[in-house]
Amino acid sequence: AQERYASIRDTPCTSADGVRVTLTMNAGLMADLPSLESSGAEGVGLFRTELQFLIRNKMPKRTELAQLYARVLDAAQGKRVVFRTLDIGSDKVLPYMKPQDEPNPALGWRAIRVALDRPGVMRMQLQALFRAANGRPLSIMFPFIAQYQEFSQAREEVDKVLAREKRLGHAIPETLEVGTMLETPSLAFASRKFFEEVEFISIGGNDLKQFFFAADRENERVRRRYDMLNLSFLTFLEGIVARCAESGTRLSFCGEDAGRPIEALCLAAIGIHSLSMRPASIGPVKSLLLRTRLDEVKAVIDEARARGDQSVREAVMQYLRDTG
Ligand code: PEP
Ligand code: MG
Repeated sequence: AQERYASIRDTPCTSADGVRVTLTMNAGLMADLPSLESSGAEGVGLFRTELQFLIRNKMPKRTELAQLYARVLDAAQGKRVVFRTLDIGSDKVLPYMKPQDEPNPALGWRAIRVALDRPGVMRMQLQALFRAANGRPLSIMFPFIAQYQEFSQAREEVDKVLAREKRLGHAIPETLEVGTMLETPSLAFASRKFFEEVEFISIGGNDLKQFFFAADRENERVRRRYDMLNLSFLTFLEGIVARCAESGTRLSFCGEDAGRPIEALCLAAIGIHSLSMRPASIGPVKSLLLRTRLDEVKAVIDEARARGDQSVREAVMQYLRDTG
């Protein structure tokens, strides 16, 4: 199988009925970057910047971060890298931050909530990103935005830091895109204004599924209890696809499920044409997408819905057995 994946590494991912699906990889450390070449990923759809903060015993300095981000961009050789600003709290606790005693950390003071209340670290990180880009294109994404106002506040921080960089005479990115993760169901129902202002959205399926089903992603007893291919969840995702289509917003999916071939197939079939996953998943996902018609998978999903199936998994697997 490894050889088969190597042989399709440079083949663009187009489904059997001609739909182009962009496959990118998730990363977080410099050590992940060589996979960009070997996996055939078209870019880094999610760079989890918190990993750099989690592996140290003190807060990294701006210059260190700028050097690191510059090396990431160098290694990407012009491929798009989406840097997600610090996503800490909940399951990601910094050893040098005062631990918060929270009854429900997953629902607590985390990610963008921390960044907006204590903007110092995000400002430092944004500066480091601008300096790393040093005139190259830059993509920034916020974690855990739950409502429009959090996005607009965070966006304002970006603009302020950018203006300051200009005043100081530093190079500014050639182009700057600012997007957000969609990880809380609330954001799917935000105003049209939000969808028009945000430049791209990436669905964080790990958190989104956890909040959709009210099932802790860290709890072994419940974390696999609900299928991502559950029709309630797929129908919810279809609503997000429709809203993004309405406003012309670029949409991708970067949770772990994007790396599972059947899940990836269904995500593409409902109209999510950009998927970000661990590098090792790109071969298997591409291999299935190349030989499968998305229009037929979509029809299988719609039939399953009409029948009242709970999940489309069985029907899609049956379809693949019948056609494969
Ligand atoms: C997610 O929630 O799906 C996601 C990609 O972010 P993380 O797994 O880092 O929370
Ligand atoms: Mg998340």
